[in-house]
Amino acid sequence: MRFRPSILKETLKGILMATRKRVVVIEGDDAAPEAVRPTLELLDRLNLNIDWLTPPIGDQAKEGYGSTFPEQARRAIDESDATFFGAASGKSTAALFYLRFGKQTYANVRPVKWLPGFKSPLADPKGLDLVIIRENLEDLYLGVEGEIQELDSLNLTSPFTGEKITDMVPGRYALKVITEKGTARVTRFAFELARKRKEQGRPGKVTCATKHNMLFRSDGFFREVAQKIAGSFPDIVFESLIVDDFAHRLAANPQQFDVAVMPNLYGDILSDMAGGLIGGLGLAPSGCYGENYAYFEPVHGTAPDIAGKHIINPTATILSAAMMLDYLGFKTEAERMERAVQKVYAEGRTLPRDQGGSATTEEFAAAVKDFL
Ligand code: ATP
Repeated sequence: MRFRPSILKETLKGILMATRKRVVVIEGDDAAPEAVRPTLELLDRLNLNIDWLTPPIGDQAKEGYGSTFPEQARRAIDESDATFFGAASGKSTAALFYLRFGKQTYANVRPVKWLPGFKSPLADPKGLDLVIIRENLEDLYLGVEGEIQELDSLNLTSPFTGEKITDMVPGRYALKVITEKGTARVTRFAFELARKRKEQGRPGKVTCATKHNMLFRSDGFFREVAQKIAGSFPDIVFESLIVDDFAHRLAANPQQFDVAVMPNLYGDILSDMAGGLIGGLGLAPSGCYGENYAYFEPVHGTAPDIAGKHIINPTATILSAAMMLDYLGFKTEAERMERAVQKVYAEGRTLPRDQGGSATTEEFAAAVKDFL
């Protein structure tokens, strides 16, 4: 048989297309785009096999399409492998809700790792390397709230005081929902991550934090399901703590934790606090993972108070991008990004304002670029 170069070319093209990824970029609001843009330049430098999509979202979309999250944007997300998100205030919230609830990204993964050069308030932050996994779709964040009167037909009483709930008017309620499916998938995710980290030398431990001593039925159920999942991971140590005890230990000795999993509200609050332990929100990345989709954004919000000043620390955004590369299979490039950030902090010459330096966002990103 004669060799035909065109067959080889077609095969190579096929392989390339199969590994080519599509990523939606949403710059977000207020100061967020100031961190996203230099991060995109770093990604560009890596010559990745990625198509970047920028569908209309937010204020611009409202002007052109009459909605902050038009159909084109939803379709672009559906056709992509992941989304890279700055941070949302009001204008990009519809897109964020779609990424979360529409794409069922149930595990919000928030690594908290101290690197030499991070301005931690702790006397000895060495060895601080934990991951908080926040259940992302349930708990009090279903957004079901209302007037107490609406509960009239349920005839509810407090198990502690015997008081009829509807006698407590005027007042409001919020619904906390913990399901078996939601809890099982997020705790399984935590165990699988602990297993992967164990292979890299971490202790292989999952801590479940709940308020099961007060909320017997809801948080108690989260704990019960987590305990059941633990049975399938005999190689991983499982511990269950009351969430206030977890908070105390997190402040006093965070090095004792490896992977911690908890319901939505506790995870939201405690991961911000954990970010404070390594040196602030500017350093804390995150990724939200579902069965078939993930999006990546810094833990911090849109930092509206420093918008336009070009002093937002882009580290959290850059490290979120590294998490995304890892998810998409660009492991070498993810490590390169992380290592470059590590080197800039270890060197300590070009640090952002929140880390005690005087570099602008762009100057810091340029320093990272030099090490890429
Ligand atoms: P949101 O409601 O979206 O969380 P927020 O203003 O309440 O917004 P953040 O945006 O997280 O919360 O900001 C909290 C504080 O931390 C602000 O003073 C902000 O300037 C600061 N901050 C947040 N992220 C960074 C960052 N990457 N670099 C420097 N400062 C930051």
